[in-house]
Amino acid sequence: MLGNSIHNIVSSMKGEMIEFSLDLHKHPELSMEEFYAAEKVRTRLTEEGFSVSDVDGMPTAFVGSYGSGEAPRIAFLLEYDALPEIGHACGHNLICTGGLTAAIALKRAIGTKFDGTILVIGTPGEEGAGGKILELEKGVFDGVDAALMFHPGDRTIPWRHATATAHLSIQFYGKAAHAAGNPQEGRNALAAMIQFFVAIDGLRQHIPESARLHGIITNGGAAPNVVPDYTEAVYLVRALTREAVLELVERVKACATSAAIATGTRCEVEHNGPLYAERKNNHTIASRVATYLEEQGIDVEVPVLKGGTGSSDIGNVSLVIPSIHPYLKIAPRGTGGHTNEFREAAASTEAQEAMLKMAESLARTGADLLLDATFLAEVKEEFATSGPDFPV
Ligand SMILES: [Zn+2]
Ligand SMILES: [Zn+2]
Repeated sequence: MLGNSIHNIVSSMKGEMIEFSLDLHKHPELSMEEFYAAEKVRTRLTEEGFSVSDVDGMPTAFVGSYGSGEAPRIAFLLEYDALPEIGHACGHNLICTGGLTAAIALKRAIGTKFDGTILVIGTPGEEGAGGKILELEKGVFDGVDAALMFHPGDRTIPWRHATATAHLSIQFYGKAAHAAGNPQEGRNALAAMIQFFVAIDGLRQHIPESARLHGIITNGGAAPNVVPDYTEAVYLVRALTREAVLELVERVKACATSAAIATGTRCEVEHNGPLYAERKNNHTIASRVATYLEEQGIDVEVPVLKGGTGSSDIGNVSLVIPSIHPYLKIAPRGTGGHTNEFREAAASTEAQEAMLKMAESLARTGADLLLDATFLAEVKEEFATSGPDFPV
């Protein structure tokens, strides 16, 4: 019965929510600067009867709450940051709108006849700033029984492995000089940076297949006739677990140190964002979502835990709270995230339709978690006895 009611509510919100998603898509905002999106969601939640509170020190985060405040406390997580230059090329407009739709549909369908709490947690800065990790540290997730979200992709799968990731800033300090007049006086921070990248390529063959090392030079000097006295790169180090990442970070640091010694410069290597953790998907919850997606005609594939993957700060949440991060097909197979093609897909009619089906599935799963104590116990049992998903 509740399922029918959720279906009808989501259907009735279709036009509004498609417009909501497309509006976010037209207003891409960088990590931790998502003021437009956060305000838009807060306003909508308040209109709907959720109480909305701030997260200390994070102006674009928020927590919407409906219900008694007591357990079970089921949270829908909303991401809404975009990427530099290419906008919503990760499709977070869909995550945000789909999660919001699910929360509203569940709230309306369930009415006041339940013990528990529906939470909508605004989680800014997924693209590197680790908003969820900061929120974990601030206690935003304390007492949450399950965290539900999804991510757009090129196929629909209930779960997938994800790597742990360190975000590094690599800086070299040299000595400026006229590049032709008195280069012997200079110490070249760009030469150091190039040595560093070459040293990393020497390392690359001898790291685990599942690890990834990649970065860009963000400051390569100011003029060709000045010996650069400062250069910077941002660099990501990925591996299966946080421990493996930290071991690899030491080897990356050695590459930077050797480059600095060779060029007479000085290097600094620091983490410029929180460490993203490996992902522990709750298969019990994710399988329930998959069932509801299939009931709506969506082809859910069996996940193949192979090959390269990204990372997300949901990993850190998933090690503490039963969490899901299923993928929803919005683009033709093979369309990679963080591309112009994926950005266009995130605004397509097909994507909005799929988002609404996911919203319905998440809302129904949320209802099960709130109302079916046996199901919630199974979820917690799995959480207590399982570990992260790793590639086979
Ligand atoms: Zn994303
Ligand atoms: Zn992304």
